[in-house]
Amino acid sequence: MSFDQEQFLTILSREDALSRFQAAVFTRPLPTELRPLADALGHSLADDVVAPMDVPPFDRSNVDGFAVRSADLKVTTANNPIRLGLNQEVIACGVAPQQLVQPGTATPIATGGPIPRGADAVVMIEHTQPEGESTIQVGRTASPGQFVSYAGSDIARGEVLLRARTVIGSREVGMLAACGIARVPVVRKPKVAIISTGDELVEPGQSLRPASIYDTNGPIVSAAVSENGGVPWFAGLFADDEVELEAGMRAALTDSDMLVLSGGTSKGAGDVSHRILSRLGKPGVIAHGVALKPGKPLCLAVCDGKPVVILPGFPTSAMFTFHDMIVPVLRRMAGLPPRADTRVQARAPVRIGSELGRAEFVMVSLVEGENGLIAYPSGKSSGAITAFTQADGFLRIDALADHIAGGTDAEVTMFTPHVRVPDLVIIGSHCIGLDVVTAPLAHADLLVRLISVGSLGGLAAAGRGECDIAPIHLFDEKTNTYNLPFLRPGLELVPGYRRMQGVAFRVGDTRFEGRDARAAVEAALTDSECIMVNRNQGSGTRVLIDRLLAGQRPDGYWNQPKSHNAVAAAVAQHRADWGMTIAPVANAAGLGFLPLAEENYDFALVAARKNRPGVAAFLESLHSEETRTALERAGFRPV
Ligand code: AMP
Ligand code: MG
Repeated sequence: MSFDQEQFLTILSREDALSRFQAAVFTRPLPTELRPLADALGHSLADDVVAPMDVPPFDRSNVDGFAVRSADLKVTTANNPIRLGLNQEVIACGVAPQQLVQPGTATPIATGGPIPRGADAVVMIEHTQPEGESTIQVGRTASPGQFVSYAGSDIARGEVLLRARTVIGSREVGMLAACGIARVPVVRKPKVAIISTGDELVEPGQSLRPASIYDTNGPIVSAAVSENGGVPWFAGLFADDEVELEAGMRAALTDSDMLVLSGGTSKGAGDVSHRILSRLGKPGVIAHGVALKPGKPLCLAVCDGKPVVILPGFPTSAMFTFHDMIVPVLRRMAGLPPRADTRVQARAPVRIGSELGRAEFVMVSLVEGENGLIAYPSGKSSGAITAFTQADGFLRIDALADHIAGGTDAEVTMFTPHVRVPDLVIIGSHCIGLDVVTAPLAHADLLVRLISVGSLGGLAAAGRGECDIAPIHLFDEKTNTYNLPFLRPGLELVPGYRRMQGVAFRVGDTRFEGRDARAAVEAALTDSECIMVNRNQGSGTRVLIDRLLAGQRPDGYWNQPKSHNAVAAAVAQHRADWGMTIAPVANAAGLGFLPLAEENYDFALVAARKNRPGVAAFLESLHSEETRTALERAGFRPV
C-alpha cells in the first residue's frame, strides 16, 4: 500500500465516528477515588451520598429569646402579660442545656442554642420585658414549635443527600460539610497527556528559529482539557521523527488516561504519528478521517483501553475537532454531563458556501442588525487563530447542504454562555492606528468588534447596515482622491489620519539607504538581483507601485500579499529586497523607510447609526488630544 493510499481509507460521518469511539472507550466502569472535601470541587460524585446524621443534630432555637412551655402562655395578651420565672442558665451556641424548663419558667437562649428539656417553643426577646433579675413578662402567646428548628428538619439521617454524577460545587460542599463528611467518593479526573508534533514547533517563551512557529495546540488543548473536567499534562514537543515520537507516545500513555496529539495527520512527508498508533495497543485506530470541516484528518484510536487522539495541525481545526469530538468523550470519562451550549438565532448576511458531504463549522461574529442578530462569518482561513477570538460562536452547515443562503436564519452555538452584542461594530480595513483610537472605549466598558475584511468589504457591510463604521483607504485614479468617491448614499465620511507610504528595505542595504524613494526604485529596476514584493490589485498602495514601475515587471511583481504587514515581513525575511508599505509598519519591523506619498485612512459612517453611544465615543476619542498625540507617536498624521 502506498503512503498516499494509506490516508483516509474510509471517511466516517461525524456521528458514526463518535459512536464507534465511545463504544470502544467506555467498556468498563469509570475509575473512582476518595477525595478530601477541600479538593473535590468540580468532580463528579461516584456514588450516592446518604446522610449519616440529622441536620440540625438537635432541636434548636431560630431566634434570640427564651425557651418556654407554650401551654404557659395560652391566655397572655399585651394588656395582660404572663410572668415567667427565669432559670439560672443561659443557653448560648455550643452550650448543652442542663436544667429542665418547669411550668411557669423560661430559659434565656441564643439563636442556634439547643432547646432544653421541658420547653417546646421560643419567644423572641423583643416580645418580653425584664422584671428584675429573675423574672420576665411575656405579652404574646406562643404556639408549640414556635421558632424551633427540629432535629433532621434540614437533612434527615438516611436520606440521599446527593445523587451519583452530581458535580460538586460550593453548594454541594456545604451539604457534605454540614453532615461532617470529610472525604467523598468521586470519579477520578482523567489525566490527559498532550503532545504537539512538528519539526517547526517552538514552545512559547523560547525564541523562534527561522521558519519555525510557536506551538499553539499544546496550550489550547491543555486549557480545553481543564475546562472539561480533565487534568492536562503537557508531555512535550516532538519532531516528526518516528522513533523518538513512538517512545514519547508510549511514555505519555503509560502515565495517563488519554493521549491527545496534534499535527502529522495530513499528507506531509513528516507525518508519522498515525502509523505509530497501529502499534500502540488494541483495538487501535477507530477512525482516520471524519467528514468534518475543519477537521477531516482527525484520527481516533483506542490503545489498550485508553483513548488516543490525533488532532489536525491547524489550530482552529484542532480546536473545533477537540470541542466537537473529544470533549464529549472527555466529559463522560470525568463523569460530567454533556456541555450545555447556548444557542441563538441569527441571520446570515451573505451567502455562506460549504463543501457537500462534510459537516462544516463556520465561525461567526454577532452584530446587532435592524431586525435582530446578524451572524457575520469570520473571513479568516482555517489556519487563523484570531478567527476564534474574534468570533462569538459558530454555525454548523449540515453535510448534506452546500451553502446557507444570504438572509436566512441560522442557529449559532455560542463559545460563551452570555451573548454580549458589541456597542460598536467596525468592519473594513484594519490598521494598528485603529487600535489606538478604540483603546479608550474598552476602558469605558464599551465592547468594540473589529472585523477585518478590507475596504471594499467594509463598504458593502456598511451598505447593508451591518456595521457602524467602515474604515477605508481607497484611491480613485480618475479624481486622484481618496475615499470620498466610493461613498454611497447613507454613508458619511469622517476624516481619519494620514499614513505615510514609502519604500521599505533592510537597514544597511546601500541600494536604498539614504536615497530618495523614486531614485531608489529606479536604481533597483536596473539591478536584476533585486527582488520586489508587490501589493494586491485594488489597493491604493498598488496604484502607487504601478505608477512607479511605469509598466515594468521586475522579479517579485507577482508576489501580491494583501497587507502592509506581509510586505514588511517579506522584506525583513529576505524573500524580497523592497516593497511599498506604511511607515509605522516598516518601523515596527525594524526596516529602513523612504517616504513617498501619504494615503488617507478615513471612516465611512453609517448615518442612521450616528447617534449610538459607541459611535459617539469613537468620534470623541478620534478627535481627542490624547488620541491624536498617541497616533502621532505611532507614526500617523491625524487630520
Ligand atoms: P500537520 O497536520 O502536521 O500537517 O500541520 C498542518 C499545519 O498546522 C501546519 O501549518 C503546521 O505548522 C500547523 N501546526 C501543526 N501543529 C501545530 C501546533 N501545535 N501549533 C501551531 N500550529 C501547528
Ligand atoms: Mg506537522
